[in-house]
Amino acid sequence: MHDTITYRQYCCVTCGMVYDEEYGLPEDGFPPGTRWEAIPDDWTCPDCSASKGDFILMSDL
Ligand SMILES: [Zn+2]
Repeated sequence: MHDTITYRQYCCVTCGMVYDEEYGLPEDGFPPGTRWEAIPDDWTCPDCSASKGDFILMSDL
């Protein structure tokens, strides 16, 4: 049975780092499949320390 879950990617506007829900960010404690909503608001970009609010949804690229 095939799932039709679509994973979203969010891009840091400051440094271009991409958070992909499909892969999560295991080194930050987010396993693959972690939804953006599940990431704490005080999380910061691992590359440039920008806040979560500085990430934008990469939709339909
Ligand atoms: Zn960044």
